[in-house]
Amino acid sequence: MDGLEQVAEHRVDQTLQRRLIETVASVVIDHADELTALDQAIGDGDHGINLKRGFDAVRADIDKLAAQPLPDALKAIGTLLVMKVGGASGPLYGTLFLTLGKELPPNPTLADLAQSFAKAIEAVKARGKSTAGQKTMLDVLVPVQSILAERGINLAARTAAAAASAAEATRGLRAVRGRASFLGERSVGHVDPGARSSALMVMAICHVLGG
Ligand code: ADP
Ligand code: MG
Repeated sequence: MDGLEQVAEHRVDQTLQRRLIETVASVVIDHADELTALDQAIGDGDHGINLKRGFDAVRADIDKLAAQPLPDALKAIGTLLVMKVGGASGPLYGTLFLTLGKELPPNPTLADLAQSFAKAIEAVKARGKSTAGQKTMLDVLVPVQSILAERGINLAARTAAAAASAAEATRGLRAVRGRASFLGERSVGHVDPGARSSALMVMAICHVLGG
């Protein structure tokens, strides 16, 4: 049993919840330029700026978010992202966090986490009229959910590695959804910005839980 499994079987206390939220927000904010550069290649160059706006707002509310039960904090983060991020990714990440907050019990087991994450992914798919293989954030979220459902040893490290390689693998895909789809074949050869931001968030969480 590694850190991810242990944490999922125990209560996420306020200190850990604060560290998780702070780490995810910081990683996204610190990589805003990289995300924007990726979006400049196949979109309109605002993904990093959009997400930074959202996660700046999350960071500003950290005291409140850390003190709430985990499901409430996730719902509050989802609402902030919907309000602040904008673009296509704001409503999609908002839906992901809001649904996770609605589905997760206050003291989730790892099985609860995998199941709630699956439901959150379904909600993103419905909202985006999208599915895996279309060069979007789903190309990271879906394989990450599969690993969580599999469980097994070194789960945090395996999940982080899967997220990183899944984001990189979007380089070979042709975009079918979002602005990058306007480029058709010319979208091939570039990593999808939303896939990369999803991988950064997953890796940040795994780093905190797996250490
Ligand atoms: P916009 O494309 O409106 O400028 P962003 O640049 O913030 O919004 O986000 C772009 C990212 O959103 C893409 O890289 C992709 O991962 C994700 N995305 C866009 N449309 C969809 C969709 N229909 N389903 C899932 N993800 C999507
Ligand atoms: Mg964009």
